[in-house]
Amino acid sequence: MYDVLIIGAGPAGISAAIYALRNNLKVGILEGEAPGGKMVFTATIENYPGYESINGPDLAYSMFNQVMNLGVNYLAFNAESLKKENDY
Ligand SMILES: Cc1cc2nc3c(=O)[nH]c(=O)nc-3n(C[C@H](O)[C@H](O)[C@H](O)COP(=O)(O)OP(=O)(O)OC[C@H]3O[C@@H](n4cnc5c(N)ncnc54)[C@H](O)[C@@H]3O)c2cc1C
Repeated sequence: MYDVLIIGAGPAGISAAIYALRNNLKVGILEGEAPGGKMVFTATIENYPGYESINGPDLAYSMFNQVMNLGVNYLAFNAESLKKENDY
């Protein structure tokens, strides 16, 4: 059972996971393709602070390593559907 289950390991999902993990929550991240999202398919990124220019897959790998080292549970699956069970 997770405190937070994130769908998608692109930059948004990885950022959300970092914040949740640093708050000592148990976090799972579901990713149906390669971790990194669209970054994986971007040859060169030139607007990410801290890097004048970085290869997309390298940045994706670095973000993925960071979240893995923080202890995320990586689940290599697609979310097929969502079901609301309570009123919150
Ligand atoms: C060709 C191209 C070049 C770009 N270049 C730049 C650039 O140079 N600089 C820049 O700032 N931005 C660039 N962007 C935009 C940038 O890629 C996006 O803003 C960013 O990827 C959005 O991040 P995200 O995490 O919201 O979504 P995404 O990167 O799309 O990640 C979403 C992830 O969720 C996964 N997912 C989706 N549905 C499910 C499901 N049902 N179950 C499990 N996993 C799922 C996907 O597989 C994907 O990995 C570029 C985009 C493209 C297409």
